[in-house]
Amino acid sequence: MAAALASSFSLLRASRLARPYAIRNNALSHLSFGSLGAFSAPLRPNRFVRHITASSNEEAAAKSAVDTGGPTIFDKIIAKEIPSDIVYEDDKVLAFRDINPQAPVHILIIPKLRDDLTQLAKAEARHGEILGQLLYASKIVADKEGIAEGFRVVINNGPDACQSVYHLHLHVLGGRQMKWPPG
Ligand code: 5GP
Repeated sequence: MAAALASSFSLLRASRLARPYAIRNNALSHLSFGSLGAFSAPLRPNRFVRHITASSNEEAAAKSAVDTGGPTIFDKIIAKEIPSDIVYEDDKVLAFRDINPQAPVHILIIPKLRDDLTQLAKAEARHGEILGQLLYASKIVADKEGIAEGFRVVINNGPDACQSVYHLHLHVLGGRQMKWPPG
């Protein structure tokens, strides 16, 4: 049963990763395995199974992501070619809700002009100003979201840190007790 659940989730989540903007968060909780022919009960995913599968899928997606320097899904979000839930925007940065939130508040903050910053490891001295603006924007977002008392800012850099989109971004996470050390 656990294996079947895990495998079904892998398929469902793989399809989300292929079309990441097509399914909103928690969309899976409305699905039923009945439509897959395997179960008739409503989908009540075991949190442990879902966590394991979600983690391995994020790792798999990150391992298969390559820093080509080419356009990413975030270019479409900046151009407003695909919808996103924008929470803050100025002339330099854009902040929007993560499609796969890992906390009650999970916002991504990106530079509107990537300027070779596919990942933090590519930063040069000339990027100092935008890096500061991104960090300051995380404080503005935390204030707007009511989490200034406790929030976390994360940058995943490269495959070993599970970076899956090669356009520098800060994750702002909050709204629950954060754990340490992180996974
Ligand atoms: P990374 O794994 O590279 O640190 O973070 C990339 C983040 O982008 C992930 O948390 C993922 O959920 C999010 N993401 C990927 N595609 C989309 C999308 O189309 N819309 C939104 N809002 N978030 C996305």
